[in-house]
Amino acid sequence: MKVVVVGGGAAGFFTAIQIKEMHPDLEVMILEKSKKLLSKVKVSGGGRCNVTNACETIDELASAYPRGGRHLRKLFGRFNNHHMMEWLESKGVECEVYPDNCVFPKVNDSQIIIDLFLKECSRLGIRIQTETGVVSFTSNESGYSLKLLNGGEIQTKYLVFALGGQPKESGLQWLKDLGYQIESPVPSLFTFNMPQEKTADLMGIVVENAIAKIEGEKLEGRGPLLFTHWGMSGPAILMLSAWGARILNEKNYEFKVRINWLDGEGEAYVRSQIQQKQAIDPKKSIKNQNPFQLPNRLWEFLLKKLEINPENKWAEIGSKSINKLINALTNDTYQVKGKTTFKEEFVTCGGVSLSNLNMKTMESKLHPGVFFIGEMIDIDGITGGYNFQACWTEAWTVANSIG
Ligand SMILES: Cc1cc2nc3c(=O)[nH]c(=O)nc-3n(C[C@H](O)[C@H](O)[C@H](O)COP(=O)(O)OP(=O)(O)OC[C@H]3O[C@@H](n4cnc5c(N)ncnc54)[C@H](O)[C@@H]3O)c2cc1C
Repeated sequence: MKVVVVGGGAAGFFTAIQIKEMHPDLEVMILEKSKKLLSKVKVSGGGRCNVTNACETIDELASAYPRGGRHLRKLFGRFNNHHMMEWLESKGVECEVYPDNCVFPKVNDSQIIIDLFLKECSRLGIRIQTETGVVSFTSNESGYSLKLLNGGEIQTKYLVFALGGQPKESGLQWLKDLGYQIESPVPSLFTFNMPQEKTADLMGIVVENAIAKIEGEKLEGRGPLLFTHWGMSGPAILMLSAWGARILNEKNYEFKVRINWLDGEGEAYVRSQIQQKQAIDPKKSIKNQNPFQLPNRLWEFLLKKLEINPENKWAEIGSKSINKLINALTNDTYQVKGKTTFKEEFVTCGGVSLSNLNMKTMESKLHPGVFFIGEMIDIDGITGGYNFQACWTEAWTVANSIG
């Protein structure tokens, strides 16, 4: 019996390997449209491949997926980040966990993952055919007939589609024609451009514990926030871009972002810190004595923006200025206009609707024996190794369901 995996990326390779490991009698082949295999793995994580995330619990893991987390949660019970790390170690790839829980191969080179997958395919006898694009499929008595771009056809019992993110809905029109519902694809994981704001001088500044929100929405991103030449980036912004991928697309990437620079602290905290400062250091200048451990350049920028004379002494600060400071520290507003792709990692939100899939097996409800996984389905995660982990878990689930 044959299994054809379409797509030679992370999800396709891991599926083929897992199927062959669990079911050695099945004939498994991978069809890849381009000349290159695992090309995204190669460039992933800045060429180092953030292969998964080491977060402890399944709840934590599942909460990193703006789309699909609820479904993945169940699958993580059987194959999760810790299983993946064990699998890699068992195959001789040592991993290193960084303080932010991102997991990279110890050698800091994505090529080690590519070499491992290719070696496993060769050991297990998985056939790989490049420059073989698939156009569509039809069902028949013995399974499915795959139509190839070159006009050829391949018969198979099982089919796994792992075609990656399709930036345009037209890329999945052939699936629509077969009756599938497609959630329109929009980008996720991007940084914010702020051409109207005078923040270019702040480039390179990182605020470790910021909270970013979109004005008028409930979404938020937490963590380090980085000023770039164009605007804002860093985990807090990327997280917000992922949770807000669809809403921000509808807003045509024009919106106001509100920042709390103090890890969510509110008015009472800021007021008490200022009162303390006024009591302890009344004669010190505001510019040199910032009670909030903010980077100095940002502190001076905020004072200038609020038209507070930075040379003033703490004792000279009146209630109007204190109120302005409270607002700027807890609810600072910036106009965003446009986005920039985050080169370390970006993904497509949307794709094949989960309503078309049995989410216990990843099998199509429309075509038994056909599976959809990876970035082409409506599941995506925030940055930090979660997108690969979705691929590994879905791939394992398919292998475990087949046969
Ligand atoms: C720059 C960058 C860095 C990233 N870094 C990370 C990271 O460090 N950690 C992380 O978790 N995630 C990262 N991601 C996201 C991650 O790479 C993707 O989520 C993941 O690669 C998706 O795997 P996939 O197998 O579903 O799709 P892909 O890797 O895109 O593979 C799909 C394959 O299918 C082929 N294909 C498409 N159509 C057809 C067809 N009709 N017939 C045959 N073959 C076809 C494609 O050519 C491609 O080779 C990064 C993404 C980018 C863009």
